[in-house]
Amino acid sequence: MAAEDERGARLTVGAPDLLTLHESIAGMFATQGDWQRAYQHLRSALDIARAGSLRDTLTSSYNRRYLDQRLPSLPSGRGLALALIDLDRFKHVNDTYGHLLGDRVLCRVADLLQEDLPADGFCARYGGEEFVLVLPGLDAAGAIRLADATRVRVARHPWSELQPGLRVTISVGLAYASADTEAAQRQLLRADNLLYAAKRAGRNRVAYHDRETARVITHSE
Ligand code: GH3
Ligand code: MG
Ligand code: MG
Repeated sequence: MAAEDERGARLTVGAPDLLTLHESIAGMFATQGDWQRAYQHLRSALDIARAGSLRDTLTSSYNRRYLDQRLPSLPSGRGLALALIDLDRFKHVNDTYGHLLGDRVLCRVADLLQEDLPADGFCARYGGEEFVLVLPGLDAAGAIRLADATRVRVARHPWSELQPGLRVTISVGLAYASADTEAAQRQLLRADNLLYAAKRAGRNRVAYHDRETARVITHSE
């Protein structure tokens, strides 16, 4: 028992995370009265803690806090697309293969969503099995192309290499706003409604408003 404890302790000491390291060094300088160095290391620790607080612990993508911070000040001058993404029938994946496999699927999907984002674009985990892609600087057609390419990338991923028989798809609600026409929170709400349209239309689809007719179009293979 004691040996195990010791081994555990050595492991922790052998590979301390950077935050803990800066914190310890700050404490060491503080006991020596070197307040300037102590302050520098505490600042470094704070920077690491702040960056960490904006990341999702499971997938390492940005989290809801980051999205909420960024949303009000997003650069919409050149058009802004928000894609709300939800994994299809994900409860079934958990129920069939277990939550650990479900977690691995979420991580893999987060990686796939982050391929080919435009400059200044980002992906955030919105909560549960939902993600938001923030896509500035695209026109409406470009945003649809990107959203659909993302959907196809997930659907065609070799999931059976992770687990025989596994299939994973996503549904996407895509809300587009041309220059400064809509508050981002409202636009996100629109994306949410469109996501439900994609689900109702059968899943593995992108739903968006047609610019001319304002009709909801659902896009699939
Ligand atoms: P739909 O196509 O309508 O979205 O069906 P769904 O099964 O994906 O939707 P539902 O809301 O019924 O289930 C979502 C599931 O996502 C249930 C929940 O356990 C799972 N989930 C949410 N967060 C996590 C997570 O961090 N890890 C794992 N493994 N599962 C999660
Ligand atoms: Mg959901
Ligand atoms: Mg779902």
